[in-house]
Amino acid sequence: MIVVMQVAASESDIALVRQTIEGRSLKALVMPGGERIAIGIPSAIPPEERDDLAAALSALARVDHVAHVTRPYKLASREFHAASTRIEIGRLSVGGTELQVMAGPCAVEGEAQIQSAAASARAAGARILRGGAFKPRTSPYAFQGLHEAGLALLRDAARANDLLSVSEVMQPDLVGLVAGYVDILQIGARNMQNYPLLIEAGRSGKPVLLKRGPSATVDEFLLAAEYVLHNGNPNVILCERGVHPLDRSYVRNTLDLNVIPVLKELTHLPVVVDPSHGIGVRRHVPPMALAAIAAGADGLIVEMHPDPQRALSDGPQSLSPAEFAALMRRLETLAPAVGRTL
Ligand code: PEP
Ligand code: MN
Repeated sequence: MIVVMQVAASESDIALVRQTIEGRSLKALVMPGGERIAIGIPSAIPPEERDDLAAALSALARVDHVAHVTRPYKLASREFHAASTRIEIGRLSVGGTELQVMAGPCAVEGEAQIQSAAASARAAGARILRGGAFKPRTSPYAFQGLHEAGLALLRDAARANDLLSVSEVMQPDLVGLVAGYVDILQIGARNMQNYPLLIEAGRSGKPVLLKRGPSATVDEFLLAAEYVLHNGNPNVILCERGVHPLDRSYVRNTLDLNVIPVLKELTHLPVVVDPSHGIGVRRHVPPMALAAIAAGADGLIVEMHPDPQRALSDGPQSLSPAEFAALMRRLETLAPAVGRTL
């Protein structure tokens, strides 16, 4: 943290800043500049004191501003963990050279549907089966998912096709139940800042796919990940899934591809992209999937339904099995150009 004084600051203004810092058993380093004086705090500030100290210093006379030089998140930051994290899940690794593709329907609808989706995902080269059993739907009248029965169908379809599984958990008291059926817990965009859920997912130790909220800033996203990490779970995969668009005439959301290189610089955690919710229009999903990998994503989560026309949720953005297989072939061609394997 650095306190930058106004040009008019006097010796006594500077002394008061120094006393405020030293009063908290921290070091104060007065740095004379051309016109202005800055006071740096070279010692580590306990995270729980940062906001309070910054507020106290900002309120002092002739303090121009207080600048933070380290990030508010510690465990998620590359500053303290330079090497990229690889998350080992069964025999798979997320965040290494190998790209990981998760595919399957928005929601598990029944045994035949999820078994068929799993077989198509596997045949095309995906290694993780997705399928929601607890669905966060905008309308209470929309299909809400098959709940525990859906989780069992997802688990069985994944096992039968030698795939891992991912499914959403919406409430803290169901973390244990969902974790008993799946390999990866999905925390949905709407729940990115559900702190009790993040804490419980942290305590579970189960790999977490954390989706970015549609209006979340990068710092809010990484602080949400920090909650999971801070509660003892190092296995967090970040997922960009589109932010609120300027214009909904043609797309559902705006896939924020900018965030991929930004996150890769700020954090060591793997980053995957959901182009299905990201753009929300089936025919536009493949180009955005390719763009995400070209921009440095470690993998994808893609909605694919055996019969998208009849899907109970998100049919308009779901690929058919043939479209998904065609996307996988294009990803195979792209991967080596960006130093990845599929
Ligand atoms: C989903 O993956 O089906 C889903 C509901 O996604 P999001 O939380 O990104 O809207
Ligand atoms: Mn969906």
